[in-house]
Amino acid sequence: MTVDAVDAAEAAGAKPVLNKTDLNKPVGFFAGLGQAMRGGIAIDLGTANTLVYMRGRGVVLNEPSLVVFVETNGRKELVAVGHEAKQMYGCTPGNMTAIRPLRDGVIADFDITMQMIKYFIRKARNGWRLGGSSICICVPSGSTTMERMAIQRAAEEAGGDPIYLVEEPMAAAIGAGLPVSEPKGSMVVDIGGGTTEVAVLSLGGVVYSRSARVGGDEMDEAIINHIRRNHKMLIGESSAERIKIEIGSASQPEKGKGRKIKIRAHDLVAGVPKELVLHESEITESLAEPVTAIVEAVQMVLEQTAFESAATELATNIVDKGITLTGGGALLHNLDQVLHKATGLPVTIADDPLACVAMGTGQCLENLKAYRSMVTRH
Ligand code: ADP
Ligand code: MG
Repeated sequence: MTVDAVDAAEAAGAKPVLNKTDLNKPVGFFAGLGQAMRGGIAIDLGTANTLVYMRGRGVVLNEPSLVVFVETNGRKELVAVGHEAKQMYGCTPGNMTAIRPLRDGVIADFDITMQMIKYFIRKARNGWRLGGSSICICVPSGSTTMERMAIQRAAEEAGGDPIYLVEEPMAAAIGAGLPVSEPKGSMVVDIGGGTTEVAVLSLGGVVYSRSARVGGDEMDEAIINHIRRNHKMLIGESSAERIKIEIGSASQPEKGKGRKIKIRAHDLVAGVPKELVLHESEITESLAEPVTAIVEAVQMVLEQTAFESAATELATNIVDKGITLTGGGALLHNLDQVLHKATGLPVTIADDPLACVAMGTGQCLENLKAYRSMVTRH
């Protein structure tokens, strides 16, 4: 399966258009051709969102890592990808399947992941289908050799030549502006949809890291379970995400029940849709488990750093500079304060946390010489 499925998706209405994140530069014939010929693409293949960065232009695409496909005679063909697939999510007919191919931080379906990457690259290139160009792509620090090979192969199949792999927490730290090349310890906590990556970086390398299978998705699931158990009502993933973003918090409100939200949910007893008012305090309670898991992952890496005598210098610097949070989960209300209380360290949320990994991977691509110790070439 090469570009056929992508063509099929485009024929089905998934036209390649530049995303709103496109920097205000001309996208005319010559501008597009020039960019495509110079090549050079950096990809943040996230469990929830994929961002594509083009050399010299910045982030040009930012879409959900979501695919809808049909399977005929064992052959999977894309119907919609990204934003379009999200609109169809939860209401696909029986012959279609909607999946997030990287949901838990591993590639669940290689063929679909590859097609998704190819589609995003073509869309980012505004439809240009020119030969190989370098692709810099990040890999989660906890990924196995097999998983790294799968990501590399997907990038190769998408026309990448050569391929550069960057450790995801390294990319997050570079994107957050941390001094990763210096002989100082920098600590980054990247909280995505499916995973949380905690890492200590120094002299251009990952000194300690831990990847926990907890993130925004588990928070959404916790909200769904809470509403089912306590209100006997059913809500979907996108409603749960909206509740989390609007009234979710890592710590209880100072007084009363806090903020509130009105939603529509399916009453499991009466069997009809009903209105439900939810408060910050109960949603925060339901988020306790995933929040604790994130705090524990951070504490483990801190302890590891503190107990290694060779890492004393690093630990001292982390105590001074603190922890930087990246990824969408960093935006959960009060999570920075909860981490500060649990560790006693300063905690900072990076500017534009959802774009840090893409910006960092992009910086590696733009300055391959300067970042050569942080990328591996294949
Ligand atoms: P990934 O790198 O795994 O694709 P992202 O860094 O894009 O993940 O983050 C996506 C996650 O961040 C989702 O679970 C989303 O619900 C969550 N998220 C985004 N904005 C917020 C917010 N304001 N508050 C809490 N969670 C958020
Ligand atoms: Mg990410």
